[in-house]
Amino acid sequence: MAPRGKSSPACRPSVAAHHWVARAGDLGLSRTPRGVIDSMSSSKTMYDVAVIGGGLSGVTAARDLRDRGYSVVLLEGSQRLGGRIFARPFAGLPDVSVDFGGTWVNTSMQPLMNSELTRYGIAVRGDLPSGGAAFHTGGAWRSMPVPPDQLHDLERALMHLRTASQRFTPGLKVTQAGVRDLDVSVDEFFAPLNLPDATRDLLYSIVVVYGGWDPGKLSVFSFLSQIAAFGHSPYLFYGALTERIVGGLHTLLEAMVLGSGIDIRLSHRVVAVERGPDGVTVRHEGGGLVEARECIVAVPTNVIRHIDFTPPLNPDKQRLLGRNHMSRAIKCAIRVRNLPPRPLAMGSRGFHMICSGKELGDGTEIVYGFSSEHHMDFDPRDVGRVQEWVREYFPAAEVLTVDFHDYGADPLFDGTYRIDWPGEAVDFLMTMNEPEDRIVFAGTDIDESVWRTWMEGALSSSRVAVDVVTANLRQGRTP
Ligand SMILES: Cc1cc2nc3c(=O)[nH]c(=O)nc-3n(C[C@H](O)[C@H](O)[C@H](O)COP(=O)(O)OP(=O)(O)OC[C@H]3O[C@@H](n4cnc5c(N)ncnc54)[C@H](O)[C@@H]3O)c2cc1C
Repeated sequence: MAPRGKSSPACRPSVAAHHWVARAGDLGLSRTPRGVIDSMSSSKTMYDVAVIGGGLSGVTAARDLRDRGYSVVLLEGSQRLGGRIFARPFAGLPDVSVDFGGTWVNTSMQPLMNSELTRYGIAVRGDLPSGGAAFHTGGAWRSMPVPPDQLHDLERALMHLRTASQRFTPGLKVTQAGVRDLDVSVDEFFAPLNLPDATRDLLYSIVVVYGGWDPGKLSVFSFLSQIAAFGHSPYLFYGALTERIVGGLHTLLEAMVLGSGIDIRLSHRVVAVERGPDGVTVRHEGGGLVEARECIVAVPTNVIRHIDFTPPLNPDKQRLLGRNHMSRAIKCAIRVRNLPPRPLAMGSRGFHMICSGKELGDGTEIVYGFSSEHHMDFDPRDVGRVQEWVREYFPAAEVLTVDFHDYGADPLFDGTYRIDWPGEAVDFLMTMNEPEDRIVFAGTDIDESVWRTWMEGALSSSRVAVDVVTANLRQGRTP
């Protein structure tokens, strides 16, 4: 847990690097080790591929390249794999694991996630429905999202979203959809509807939760493409992610890496990549070098510019990577008493959404409170303040403990998930997906499918990168 602006010890890269990390326990996957990652004692100095970044995208790419018979080294800057998948014990409850990053999936709508879970025989379970909802829209507490006389306005807004999302075709790259005109701010998108306060508050609460910043500054493009992913349904965009992985998401990561033969190096934050005629030389903090024929860079886009590329990346990439995306969502885990079972809240207060995390069976429950740094001056140590925010929706609530991971302050992320500035989405995606000599980028932030920003997007992007790298390796040269 860390106040804004300070990184927690858990997110600081360790100087005492683990070299040749081999066991699941060491991978920060918080489960009993089931096996040993092979090739840990390899003396290999030249790999076919170096993958930088051990989130879902990097791990999947490394696993797939090993499946194709290539030697792979995976360099991860932190002391754990998973990146924005991050389960760890809740503060003060060592036996209660909580997701501080990605949590929910939908196996019937997300084919890549479904196929990964099927491959490893990992089950999902559906969330139970909420036992009590509260809303705070248009300046008033209410038990329904908007007052009855605004239901028609809500319908108009949802239709507007649906119609625009239908210009994206799931399965096609969003950059091929001819939708540049939809790359405008959320404010601009809704302006022609002249929405009344409560309706706008409800819609904007969802934008803040998923976008992590001021709707006036965020492009609506990514929201529309994601609505397309959810069957062109604005409701499902919010409501369809109701499954969680039995045993937690680390079960999937563990299954991917154990026995895969990937050389995994934790606490190896990459600071430089040099491209030469025969391959790349990757330098990590501390000065060590790794050599490979090809390189996949699967780190969040806000931190790519901290890697020194020689020769430099093409000028368009440098320009676009020079400015951070603003998304700084907050997902707090809050242990609370005196709430309805599995509560749900939405609205324009400190937390823009509250939903159920885990029922503890002792009359308390861990709920997730979502907002953005832009909307709350956040200090998770201030339990009294968090209680005030929860009470805006549930007046009897008693907050016991608050815990969270600050992705905005974590130097390996510097934000949550990429939502573009208006006008930048298409150029950003096209530019970042252009391979450079021996370097391919990957990760959910640059995924060109409608699932960008989700775990499904991380899987989708890694597939594309693996195909490009495989083609390069087969040709024995890079384009
Ligand atoms: C709070 C939150 C809630 C979310 N909820 C959901 C959800 O419910 N469902 C869903 O589908 N998605 C959700 N997501 C999104 C999902 O977690 C991400 O889409 C996905 O995990 C991203 O994977 P990735 O591999 O692209 O990137 P990351 O997971 O960010 O992996 C990048 C890795 O690169 C490492 N790195 C950075 N710099 C360097 C460097 N210089 N050298 C070496 N390593 C480096 C980082 O430490 C990190 O491990 C959520 C995200 C957040 C933040």
